[in-house]
Amino acid sequence: MSYEKSQQIFQAAQSLMPGGVNSPARAFGSVGGTPLIMQRGEGAYLYDVDGNRLIDYIQSWGPMILGHKHPAVMAAVENALANGFSFGAPTEGENELAALIIEAVASVEKVRLVNSGTEATMSAIRLARGFTGRDVIVKFAGNYHGHVDSLLVAAGSSAATLAVPNSPGVTAGTSQDTLILTYNDCQGVREAFAQHGDRIAGVIFEPVVGNMGCVIPDAEFLQTLRDCTIECGALLIFDEVMTGFRVAYGGAQSLWGITPDLTTLGKIVGGGLPIGAYGGRADIMDHVLPAGQVFQAGTLSGNPIACAAGSSTLRELRDNSPYERLEQLGDQLAAGLQQAATSANQTCCVQRVGSMMTLFFNPGPIRCWEDAAESDTEKFGKYFWGLIHQGVYMPCSQYEALFVSAAHTPEDIQTTIDAAQSVLASF
Ligand SMILES: *Cc1c(COP(=O)(O)O)cnc(C)c1O
Repeated sequence: MSYEKSQQIFQAAQSLMPGGVNSPARAFGSVGGTPLIMQRGEGAYLYDVDGNRLIDYIQSWGPMILGHKHPAVMAAVENALANGFSFGAPTEGENELAALIIEAVASVEKVRLVNSGTEATMSAIRLARGFTGRDVIVKFAGNYHGHVDSLLVAAGSSAATLAVPNSPGVTAGTSQDTLILTYNDCQGVREAFAQHGDRIAGVIFEPVVGNMGCVIPDAEFLQTLRDCTIECGALLIFDEVMTGFRVAYGGAQSLWGITPDLTTLGKIVGGGLPIGAYGGRADIMDHVLPAGQVFQAGTLSGNPIACAAGSSTLRELRDNSPYERLEQLGDQLAAGLQQAATSANQTCCVQRVGSMMTLFFNPGPIRCWEDAAESDTEKFGKYFWGLIHQGVYMPCSQYEALFVSAAHTPEDIQTTIDAAQSVLASF
C-alpha cells in the first residue's frame, strides 16, 4: 500500500489549517504518522486518494450508521437539493425531522434543531440554567460534550488524547461552575448533591460513554443520577449525540428505562450532514426563545438538506430496523477481537453496547476515566497502524469507540478479525 498522495496533501494542509485539519481527532496525533486523505465512501468502505480501500469503523465518528451513500439518503438529499439550499424561513422538512425524533425518543416532547452536537449541549445547559435559575453543571471525567467552554474540563477523546484537560482560553470563571465527578461512582454523586444540591442546575453525561473508549453505565449509577436530580430540582441531561439512534432506535435511555429531562442529539440525526438537536419535556423546552426567554438561534438551523438527510436516515432505521443485525455483527466483532488478543497473549478487554465498542489495551473492566487512562496507548498505536496496512480503518485513538454500520457484512467482520489476529500476533 502506498500513501504518497495522502502524505503530499497533508503536507500542503499544514500551512493552510492549524495542524493540517479542521478537527483535531483527524490528525492521528495519538498514533503518530500521517492521516489518510479520503476521496470517497461506499457502503462499509472508504477509498483514500492513493486508491487504498479500507473497511471503515469510524463511520464519520458515528453518523454513517447506514454506511456511505445509502440509496434512500442519497435520493432524499438529491430531491431536497433541487429546491435550493437554505431559506432562513421555516420549511416542512423541519416538522418531519422533529416529529421523527419525538416519536423515537420517549422523553422528547419538543425539540430544537441546531447545527452540531456542541451547539446542542451548549444550548441544553443554558436552558437547564435558565429553567432552574442555578449555575452549577455536573459532568463526569472522560465524558466529552463538544467544545463548549464550561464543559471542556476533564473532557475525553481528543482532549484526553492531546492531554489538554483544560484548554487555554477557557477561563477559570467559566469552568468554576462545572463540577467534575467520577463516572459510575454513585457515592460521589450522592455526596456532591448533599453538599451542592441547591446550586446544581443539571447533570450532563454520556449514557454509554464513547469518548474515553466505550464505557458502560451501571443501572445503579443511572438511577442515582435520576433520584438525586429529582430530589434537588436539577435537570438530568442525557448527551445522546453519539448513542442516539446508535445503541437503539430510542437511544440509550430506551435500553435502561431511565427518563431524562433533556436529551442532546447529533451525528446520526443528520445522516452525515451537519446537525444537532436538543429536546425534552415540553414545559422546559417552552423556555426557549421565542416561546420563552432563553436565547438560542441559528442562521442555518434546520437546514433543508441536512433535515432531508436526517429524516431519510431515521425513516430507514425505523422501517428497516438494522439493530438486530448490528447486535449480531457487533457481537461477532467483539468476540473475535477478544479472542485474537487472548490467543496473542495480549491483556485486552473489549467493551461493547450494540454496534459501538472499544478494544482496550488494559485488562479492564473500564468503569471510569481513571481506569481508561491506564491503557497501553503505545500498543494501541501499533495495533492501529498494523490494521491500516491490512485495509482496516479503526478510530485513531485508544479513547474513541469504533462503530459497525448496517453496510458491514459478516465477511467484512471476519476479515477484520483475521487482520487483528495477525497484527496482535506480531507484537
Ligand atoms: C460528538 C459528540 C459531541 C459533539 O458533537 P459535534 O457535532 O462534534 O459538535 C457531543 N457529545 C457527544 C457525546 C459526542 O459524542
